[in-house]
Amino acid sequence: MPESIPEPAAVHTTGKINPAKTCQPIGAMYAALGIHGCLPHSHGSQGCCAYHRMHLTRHFRDPVMASSSSFTEGASVFGGAANLKTSIKNVFAIYNPEVIAVHTTCLSETIGDDIPNILKTAEIPEGKTVIHINTPSYQGSHVTGFAGMCKAMVSYLSTSDGFQKDQVNVLPGFVNPGDMREIRRIVNELGVKLVMFPDTSGVLDTPLTGKYQMYPAGGATVAEIRDSGNSSLTLALGAFASNDAADLLQEKCGVTGIPLKLPIGLKATDAFIMAIRDWFGVEVPASLATERGQVVDTLIDTNIHYQGKTVAIFGDPDHVIAMTEFVLTLGMVPKYILTGTPGKAFATEITKMLEEAGITGSKVKAEGDLFELRQWIHEEKVDLLIGTTYGKYIARKEDIPLVRFGFPILDRAVHPLMPVVGYRGCLRLIEQISNALLDRRDRDSLDEDYELVL
Ligand code: SF4
Repeated sequence: MPESIPEPAAVHTTGKINPAKTCQPIGAMYAALGIHGCLPHSHGSQGCCAYHRMHLTRHFRDPVMASSSSFTEGASVFGGAANLKTSIKNVFAIYNPEVIAVHTTCLSETIGDDIPNILKTAEIPEGKTVIHINTPSYQGSHVTGFAGMCKAMVSYLSTSDGFQKDQVNVLPGFVNPGDMREIRRIVNELGVKLVMFPDTSGVLDTPLTGKYQMYPAGGATVAEIRDSGNSSLTLALGAFASNDAADLLQEKCGVTGIPLKLPIGLKATDAFIMAIRDWFGVEVPASLATERGQVVDTLIDTNIHYQGKTVAIFGDPDHVIAMTEFVLTLGMVPKYILTGTPGKAFATEITKMLEEAGITGSKVKAEGDLFELRQWIHEEKVDLLIGTTYGKYIARKEDIPLVRFGFPILDRAVHPLMPVVGYRGCLRLIEQISNALLDRRDRDSLDEDYELVL
């Protein structure tokens, strides 16, 4: 949102000015990076691919590699089949990935390129794999693109060998590599074998070694994703990002799927851990119980700072749903809750939570617009804004603190490494929320009220 926009009161519109989302291929590209040795491939013009790589690089602060079908005028008129086949041949010959994960773009979708048919006659070397998903960006959002690529992993790769193993599939949702690392740690603590895909830990959070690695050590291997068809349980974290893949895994391989919220906040983390404990009959170790106890202790120590404060939350639906539940746990009042991704389930889920908490008068919207969010805030202020970097213009104009959360965060560092999931994530969020409110209190205090101890 440029700062030169008219004041909200002067503009009334039902169209989109500043949608709270970005385009499908970005999510598809991010999910594909969670396969070990995978090169995402953008079937369209170089401009789309460059934009998607740049956007991911700015958030993760690690180089994002992807190839492009490099459409020019000819492909735009006659279709991109020849470009895609040449790309696949060249990419395997030059960059030698294990997998090429193709996603489409607005241009190739408008032409109507039939990707499965094109792939039938593409030269794919023995032992290598090509998967695909259609991601026209005039539909959905980066979240649906991510969900689509996860589903493509199941559709192309997951296989049942006719028996089930004592292992859990976790579809982690559109979260940071630091979150995926934390999910793995929690499941390891529970002593259950894990298959997690996609998994961008070890891909987009790699250490500086001085040596460039095109395909870092992380990511779910093709063998692991194949083996997901033999797991006894799938936990789909975040309905919008993960349910489609879990449903297909159940249909294709008979693996029971349980949909859960992203494990952000105390309740959702409890639900994640209890789901594994109950299914596999394992004990929750003392280490996790201690971490939970630390969260409860911190909540008691700090609740005076955020109890009753009003908050606006925006971002991706799975993040916003989990964060809304968490701020309700904190005793805050979610007043405006908005996502740019379409889907009726968003308002249904949020409204249910607000009703259970006895909160009335809040505004909830899917497929929403940040311009509209600013109008709401301008008309009736909140104490805190929680959302992506795009919220900084609203925060500045309306003079309210912003806690950066979700995707993308383009003006801060470290966040891709630091989990917001699990009990450790709870502590981080409590720290960020209460510090933002306390910094504000310090800033606004008169000299006689300016306290050393808060
Ligand atoms: S043309 Fe479509 S796919 Fe390409 S960057 Fe724009 S919205 Fe995204």
